[in-house]
Amino acid sequence: MDRAPGSGPALTHDALAYWSGELGRWAAGYLESLRERPVRAQSEPGAILRQIPAAPPEEATDFEALFRDFQDIVLPGITHWQHPRFFAYFAANSSPPSVLAEFLTSVLAAQCMLWQTSPAATELETAMIDWLRGMIGLPEAFRGVIQDSASSATLAAILTARERALGWEGNAKGLAGGPVCRIYATAEAHSSIDKSCWIAGIGQENLIKVETAGARRGMRVDALQAAIRADRATGLRPAGIVASLGGTSTGACDDIAAVAEVARAEGLYLHVDAAWAGSAMICPEFRDLMAGAELADSFVFNPHKWLFTNFDCSAHFVRDPASLVRTLAIHPTYLETQGQADIVNYSEWSVPLGRRFRALKLWFVIRSYGVRRMQELIRQHVAWAEALAKRLEAEPDFEIVTQPLLSLFTFRYRPSDPQASDRVNAALLQAINDDGRIYLTPTKVEGRYVLRFQVGQTHSSAADVDLAFQVVTDLARALD
Ligand SMILES: *Cc1c(COP(=O)(O)O)cnc(C)c1O
Repeated sequence: MDRAPGSGPALTHDALAYWSGELGRWAAGYLESLRERPVRAQSEPGAILRQIPAAPPEEATDFEALFRDFQDIVLPGITHWQHPRFFAYFAANSSPPSVLAEFLTSVLAAQCMLWQTSPAATELETAMIDWLRGMIGLPEAFRGVIQDSASSATLAAILTARERALGWEGNAKGLAGGPVCRIYATAEAHSSIDKSCWIAGIGQENLIKVETAGARRGMRVDALQAAIRADRATGLRPAGIVASLGGTSTGACDDIAAVAEVARAEGLYLHVDAAWAGSAMICPEFRDLMAGAELADSFVFNPHKWLFTNFDCSAHFVRDPASLVRTLAIHPTYLETQGQADIVNYSEWSVPLGRRFRALKLWFVIRSYGVRRMQELIRQHVAWAEALAKRLEAEPDFEIVTQPLLSLFTFRYRPSDPQASDRVNAALLQAINDDGRIYLTPTKVEGRYVLRFQVGQTHSSAADVDLAFQVVTDLARALD
């Protein structure tokens, strides 16, 4: 009875009010402190697990103790994705308005599967998709939905392509004994495309990875065309093409207009995977990369990567919602919407039924920053990556392996013994990440081990990128 809200288990609304204030203050301090922390978690495998009791407690635990354990046990095992010197993978950036919206979303904890299960969630989602569509310059004819991930959007696209190719009978009849569907993508395609083909029952062997060429490492359109013709000649059923705009390894970009021309001529479904690079399309000067995307059937990009919005938030645009709904809608009586004809039920646009209220964070983020400020931040990231690439290129013992595509490039150190390049660069990466001031991840380009650099953090600065130059060059030379 009458205990201060901070002193017991956080089970009451008073405790929620008290602790959300405490956690808010902690959050601001944590985010401010990031530059003093190692970016990548420095813990050994099993170190966290060992500290968690094997059995759950029978009795209630005070929230103060829980919060202390969060700081003592969990935090040391966290890789700080919001660190301004997180240059690994792609950013999964966030921002204060996004965090605040996520708080409200979790307080409401609404299931947003149908219009009637929260009209505001559905209608705000429609509005935010339309804002995003305009921001990246897709035509008004596109509609869309917020998915949890680009993987889900691509799965939905490949399922739609499959159903269209099978005369809408795959869901009903299963795939056994039917025509063999084929999907085409670049050799640089993200693994989510492979996985979508597995799950859609198409199979890895029926995903054709087309070889790439040119400075942007796009798929060879003549090879794409030849593969489709050869498949038709042997009785296979070409179903769809996935074009890539900004591949994960090195930022490879397909010539979407040329790919779209093949898709049109062959009557194939075209999906564009712009999971990372799509955010940069809010800057008109980068849109030559997406020329032809207006001809696609669907397009996905992740505001949860580079648009200051917490995971999960993936914008999935479609030209013909009816074919997506025909593929994914299912209507048991318990999901009927009484007496409403002209409403949207977004669960019919996605694989899972249950849906989070994801539009709120977009609404908060876009209004808090304004489009102009978001453009400025992305332009800065691109300019910093270009400047760093130039600086490294000017060092005689460094080599830029793939030039910047937006804010991503790859490089390697040239050790005194060229034979040792892969080994030395792997050792360099380990030294960098053990040092902790920056965080990088590797990839392979034409079989050679290289280091990736991308910048896209909300609070990164030019000084952070300068420090990356210092860390990389110092550690490389100390190693060799
Ligand atoms: C990150 C990424 C994906 C996967 O995104 P998720 O939202 O994690 O599923 C797909 N394609 C590309 C090019 C990516 O960079």
